[in-house]
Amino acid sequence: MTDDTFYGSDFGGLRAFDPEIADVLLSELGRIRSGLQLIASENLSSPEVLTALGSTLSNKYAEGYPGRRYYGGCSEVDKAEQLAIDRCKALFDADHANVQAHSGASANQAVYGAFLKPGEKILAMSLPHGGHLTHGTKVSFSGKWFDAVHYGVHPETEDVDYDEMERLAKEHRPKVICAGGSAIPRLIDFERIRAIADEVGAIFWVDAAHFIGLVAGKAIPSPVPFADVVTFTTHKVLRGPRSGALVCKAEHAAALDKAIFPMMQGGPQMHTIAAKAVNFKECASPEYADYTRRVITNSQALAAGLAERGIRPTTGGTDTHLALLDLQGVGVTGKDAEARADAAGIVLNKNAIPNDPQKPGIASGVRVGTPCVTTQGMGEAEMATIAELIHVAVTQGDADPEHAVSQQVRAGVDELVTAFPAYPR
Ligand SMILES: *Cc1c(COP(=O)(O)O)cnc(C)c1O
Repeated sequence: MTDDTFYGSDFGGLRAFDPEIADVLLSELGRIRSGLQLIASENLSSPEVLTALGSTLSNKYAEGYPGRRYYGGCSEVDKAEQLAIDRCKALFDADHANVQAHSGASANQAVYGAFLKPGEKILAMSLPHGGHLTHGTKVSFSGKWFDAVHYGVHPETEDVDYDEMERLAKEHRPKVICAGGSAIPRLIDFERIRAIADEVGAIFWVDAAHFIGLVAGKAIPSPVPFADVVTFTTHKVLRGPRSGALVCKAEHAAALDKAIFPMMQGGPQMHTIAAKAVNFKECASPEYADYTRRVITNSQALAAGLAERGIRPTTGGTDTHLALLDLQGVGVTGKDAEARADAAGIVLNKNAIPNDPQKPGIASGVRVGTPCVTTQGMGEAEMATIAELIHVAVTQGDADPEHAVSQQVRAGVDELVTAFPAYPR
């Protein structure tokens, strides 16, 4: 076990009591520091957020909401939740916020709970075109208990097919129309979807899990003025604790609060809610706004660097923190690309591209995102270097970390992470 100041010298006693787990904590920190984290849904939350997460607020049962709990002793956790609610509402200029969802999937569950009865219809983006499991896929509660109809991307633009969405909305008259997903590189036209929803009398739900951080930093337009409800995760670009939240119009506040608790969840995780409050405060700063703009210029630079080398970003580029890359031009599968990059210290994930000829477990693409490397302070010059490293690893590399090309790329990664360390000592 190497020494590290990050957790304090004795991990609050954990190191002595449970060296096995203390070792995992340290070696995971070492893993983060030694590689390039390009998973689009990950980020490096601050020591302040992590401190709130590791607090005694974890002990408290607080079913209910601030000022109306089912347990005594909630005076202090009430303050934390009220701060989180107030900061969240201010950050997104929203009528109402619920900060209790345990995750993005739990926040999404609440939307179904508030607006749909089992068997009723939802229209959402299809998973293979960039949607999410919780948007009505058969393996999820959302597809087992609700009737999901899916729109996709346009075959030529590879961006959301709004005409298809409109046609399906008129044909099926869903109760809810959902926008958002986990592999959409472009801005979403919220105004257009609002109009479609109004035309068929549907609730407009935006699952902003991926891009809400960019909205918080005002780097891209907000869905909040247009949507009935916006659900999100707090750990992606936003850079808070692993969790979820939602904001909504005042008229839906009671239904969504009841859907979170008592319909879907039990006691809220008060330590995580305190960490969300810390994160919302961070997100209101000019530094965070600047960070979100750099996340986007970095992902654009990375996508352009890869495009120059024959690795095509779908839709031709990106407006956000992520790019979806089509590897068919270089004749490598997503699965092989992921393994080769990993062997060289570059962490990314295979991802289906629209109309992918491969099975999801193989895939023809990879997804890359810049939230982590931008948190580490890297800029456009470093993105050009990363594009070159990815290209070499993917097209000439090997899944074996001992392979000469893996080692050569790893040396380039080492240089970058030495100059721009994660969690600097
Ligand atoms: C990440 C994500 C979720 C789920 O978040 P979890 O916290 O993992 O449950 C939901 N929707 C979208 C679009 C996502 O990208």
